Amino acid sequence: MLRRSRRAAILVAGLVVFGLACAAYALNRRSHDAAALEEAGRTLHRVISQRVDQHDAHLTSLSALVQAAEPAPIATVEQVAASIIRFYPRIVGIDVVDLALDPPRPLLDTADPAVVAEEARQALGSNLRTRSLDGGNRLLLVKRALTDGVGHYALALVIDMNRLSASDTPLPEGAAVQLRLIEPGKAAAEPAGAFSADIASRTQPLRLTLTTSAPNWPLPPLGFLALAGLVVALAALLIDRLLEARSAAQEAARKAVLAEQDARLAHAGRVNAMGELASGIAHELTQPLTAILGQAQAGRRLLAQPDADQAVLAGAFEAIVRNARRAGDILGRLRAWISKSEPAVETVDLTELAGEVVHLLATNARSAGATLRVGDDGSKPLVRADRVQLEQVVFNLARNGLEAVEGRDGERNVIIEVGTQGNDAVLAVSDNGPGLSLEAQARLFEPFFTTKPAGLGLGLALCVRLVERFDGALAAENAAAGGAVFRVRLPRIAGEARKEAAE
Ligand code: ADP
Repeated sequence: MLRRSRRAAILVAGLVVFGLACAAYALNRRSHDAAALEEAGRTLHRVISQRVDQHDAHLTSLSALVQAAEPAPIATVEQVAASIIRFYPRIVGIDVVDLALDPPRPLLDTADPAVVAEEARQALGSNLRTRSLDGGNRLLLVKRALTDGVGHYALALVIDMNRLSASDTPLPEGAAVQLRLIEPGKAAAEPAGAFSADIASRTQPLRLTLTTSAPNWPLPPLGFLALAGLVVALAALLIDRLLEARSAAQEAARKAVLAEQDARLAHAGRVNAMGELASGIAHELTQPLTAILGQAQAGRRLLAQPDADQAVLAGAFEAIVRNARRAGDILGRLRAWISKSEPAVETVDLTELAGEVVHLLATNARSAGATLRVGDDGSKPLVRADRVQLEQVVFNLARNGLEAVEGRDGERNVIIEVGTQGNDAVLAVSDNGPGLSLEAQARLFEPFFTTKPAGLGLGLALCVRLVERFDGALAAENAAAGGAVFRVRLPRIAGEARKEAAE
């Protein structure tokens, strides 16, 4: 669950980072495009300003030509006009209109004489007049040629606006150029992000505007999307792995702390049980010690006889050794039981372990008037576990069984059955006591759940944790014939491993 929500958070963070990368790309692209548009605008502005200056120059030279004679030397003007038009294709018409005639007459017949005359009349002195034609597609320039202070000729240049505003170099993608006459008193609103500047000319008030059709948030190209996606995915994967490793390390540390606590609790439990066991141990020791004493006394008597039978003497000594070993075993078991050694996982024979527990609890069984025995199906299952801790599990279960049958009428039995089931080794402790109450069934493994006046309620909670530490499980139920059954299930050592363990 935790892992899933962590992955969802990483996914969301990854998507956010991916989105931010795309936004950063779009912003960068946008500022790059704006800079390119600005650059193209400045270049075109310079070029148009130069072109516009040329118009002034042409009109001035034509004006000089017209003033050279009276009447104006139309043939020469015509020749000059033809060569201007040939060299400057944006100048699509040149005319000279005689204003003295009524109606005014065009001498080259390329411009509307009425319009030229109207503009010329409004021109002050030699000032230039401008007028937009064809809805802004063409520009009319009109200038009066003054002869002896009185000019009755008007010069007209017709300019193709598209050619005037044509760029010599390619414009940025999506850019559109607009060149128009500025109408006095009319300030047109420029679109955002566009380049706009007035042409530097005293005579021709023109405004250049460059707009772009590029979107405000351009979508990154596929290659960028794929690369950014890959980088973000790899980073997310790496972060996920790092977090996974960190939480695994935290989990391992937490388990180690728990194992340490359990080991201490288990030790405290064993030391606590020592009191109960003491009288049983003493009783068990009495037997071999009495036997040793008897054999030693018999041996001493034999030695006192001159013809002592060597074979009988040797037999007495052997019995002494055997019983001394038995006493040593009993004490060794006790030492192992209360030892506080570090938990060590080793191969454990469950049948042998069950036998040890029966020995340890022999006195408890006797005082409960119960029979405690091992039921063995001959399978001799081996498991990997800490011997002392697993022994404590079986000890707790068997002792609970003995406490359950105590005071019961009739036969009192507690059986530790060892067998196998599939790949598992199973150790079942059953008794013919009253069985588990409904409440006990629900809360059996809860710490501090007890129904005994002097009980602590920690035994079964500890058993579950110890068994789980060895990858096993502990379950409890009531037997059909009455009484409770506690089953410890542990992975069995099989095949080769078993042979190696035996060696
Ligand atoms: P404690 O023995 O200190 O009570 P445990 O954790 O060993 O703590 O057991 C908890 C409770 O489970 C017991 O108090 C008892 O009510 C119930 N219980 C355990 N084993 C048996 C059993 N064999 N038969 C019936 N009840 C049992």
